[in-house]
Amino acid sequence: MRVALLVAACSLTLLPATARARGADGEFDQRRSSHFVLHQDVVIDQSGGLHGSRHFEQQVLVELERAYDALGEWLALRPRRRIDVVVYDPARFDAAFAGRFRFPAAGFYHGVIRVRGDTQLTVALSRVLHHELVHAALDAAAPTLWLPGWVNEGVAEWFEARTDGQREIGLRERAALASLARQGGLASLSALAMPSFAGLDARDAQVAYLQSYALIDYLARLEGERSLAKFLAELIQSRNLDRALHRVYRLDAATLEARFARELG
Ligand SMILES: [Zn+2]
Repeated sequence: MRVALLVAACSLTLLPATARARGADGEFDQRRSSHFVLHQDVVIDQSGGLHGSRHFEQQVLVELERAYDALGEWLALRPRRRIDVVVYDPARFDAAFAGRFRFPAAGFYHGVIRVRGDTQLTVALSRVLHHELVHAALDAAAPTLWLPGWVNEGVAEWFEARTDGQREIGLRERAALASLARQGGLASLSALAMPSFAGLDARDAQVAYLQSYALIDYLARLEGERSLAKFLAELIQSRNLDRALHRVYRLDAATLEARFARELG
């Protein structure tokens, strides 16, 4: 069950394939910062210079520390133990982990953050790092708590979008959800409470991630973005979803589900 929960903590975004000058050698370079230990095995021919592996490692660590600061500021989560982050060559990542998911995964957290890498710090890679950091931080804050999938994934999706400058869910995403709602195609909140989305096929996973993000976006609009930190703290402390929803939003899960569906029309 624990394994299911942790594997659930994954990210759906597909990173672009990178050109390979040579194969990854399976030997990971390691570098540390205040809160992270980075291991990387992406294919970069040289170690020095602007396009070298050292510069890439420094960029990734700076981005992770930036994410750490944002996490403390937005969600009041500040894991104390250093977090291991492994950045894989994309082909090696696929060969090692594709069987764990029924959709193309860009990364996952299972005690260690593992991401499908790139040879430079792209926006997509940065977003995956931000997303997985939320899972790592929630696990550090409440290692024995089963979070509902929609909370765990929804907050991770919200955080990666918010720290990328997106204040609310996009119009296109909202329209897609409204269309699903009209067709009766939304997932129920109890279905989204499953700790893992890893077993869903690509289409169902897409809906589950989007709807989870939209639910957290709904809560953020209801009482303000700052309410999310309070909600997570209440949930971690009480280990009771309805109690945490009631304390912060004066809602229970059933009412949240009904109002969310009504808002989508
Ligand atoms: Zn995730």
